[in-house]
Amino acid sequence: MTDPSTAAPRGIVLLGATGSIGRSALRVIARHPDRFRVVGMSAGSRAAALDDLAREVRPDYVVMAVRPADGFQPAWQGDWRYGRDRLAEAAADPAADLVVNALVGYAGLESTLAALGAGRRLALANKESLVAGGELVLQAWREGGGELVPVDSEHSAIHQCLAGRPAAEVSRLILTASGGPFRTLPPERFADIRPEDALDHPTWSMGDKITIDSATLANKALEVIEAHLLFDVPFDRIEVVVHPPSIVHSFVEFRDGSTIAQLGHPSMEVPILYALSYPRRLPNEFRSFDPVRDGPLEFESLREDQFPMFGLGVAAGRAGGTQPAAYNAANEVAVQAFLGRGLSFAGIAGVVEEVLSRMSPRPVSSVEDVSAADFEARALAREAVRRLG
Ligand code: NAD
Ligand code: MG
Repeated sequence: MTDPSTAAPRGIVLLGATGSIGRSALRVIARHPDRFRVVGMSAGSRAAALDDLAREVRPDYVVMAVRPADGFQPAWQGDWRYGRDRLAEAAADPAADLVVNALVGYAGLESTLAALGAGRRLALANKESLVAGGELVLQAWREGGGELVPVDSEHSAIHQCLAGRPAAEVSRLILTASGGPFRTLPPERFADIRPEDALDHPTWSMGDKITIDSATLANKALEVIEAHLLFDVPFDRIEVVVHPPSIVHSFVEFRDGSTIAQLGHPSMEVPILYALSYPRRLPNEFRSFDPVRDGPLEFESLREDQFPMFGLGVAAGRAGGTQPAAYNAANEVAVQAFLGRGLSFAGIAGVVEEVLSRMSPRPVSSVEDVSAADFEARALAREAVRRLG
């Protein structure tokens, strides 16, 4: 291994730089200028926000997935690139040692496939691409010969607990869940939930889409599928436990009876730093865990009956094929409709359940198979939103 004190900084392409994970990643990078350098960074449609970041970070180039309106005059006079093709090119950029995929939703699939297909090291926050792409993503990872390090805190925890041990030695993965803002809400109050209530997460500050997914527990279902794919552990050996303080990020139980957990304060900067520096560990000034001050660490069972998006998602994962992509797409449409006040909170599960019942899982052998399922599920979901909304 290269001597870390003399190694050149790792060149990073950061996709989704203007988002919650993107900005956390930039803070982590800024604290280690001798270790990391931003080669390229991207945003979806917020050109002015990317312009501000580019002036601070001074990357080699920036990519806007959507071309800004005529008349946009960037203050940063560097290399601006536009369009989805340029985004996929950035994801596979040979000048990068590491690509961070912090895009949100299915829109991240092309970049995940491009990065892994090109053999890049991928720090993956965009769980939707793994869930929707499933076996295709694993195939690109195997064939490209790159590396995938999860950014999601539960999967970062499992990655750390496993420390390279094979799935055959694992008897159980136990993912923790904060339980979201409605963990203790009486069932009769679910009908009154408004977007602003659901956006108020008790322990994590995140982008809007994942915050709603955390409130419905769809996020935890996506994470169960993510864990199944990343660590090759069957669904019946993956469990979820509610842990409101979000200090224990997950557990791995090994077949010899030892259970290993990873703990830390709920800040995404910790798993981001782990993914950026892996396999090394860099210093971090974060408040560390104190067993006396930070205890007791409470755990409770998940109220599955109150959160139908969890069971629907795990069932879609077990069904396999195109069904996880359909679940993901229907959820994305329903969440947008809820945020736009065109659907109730309970309507999210109503829409997704209807879409899944109208689609049967098909095998996935190409990106076209996945995009066809994504397209069909979105159309069915929009129709269901019009009826139920
Ligand atoms: P966010 O909405 O804050 O940011 C998303 C980023 O993607 C922005 O830079 C946006 O410009 C860009 N983007 C959005 N749509 C795009 C499109 N169609 N094409 C190209 N770019 C687009 O989201 P976030 O909360 O940072 O989450 C990012 C990913 O990380 C999600 O998959 C989420 O599930 C996952 N994740 C987030 C957290 C968290 O704490 N925020 C924790 C764990 C996992
Ligand atoms: Mg998570």
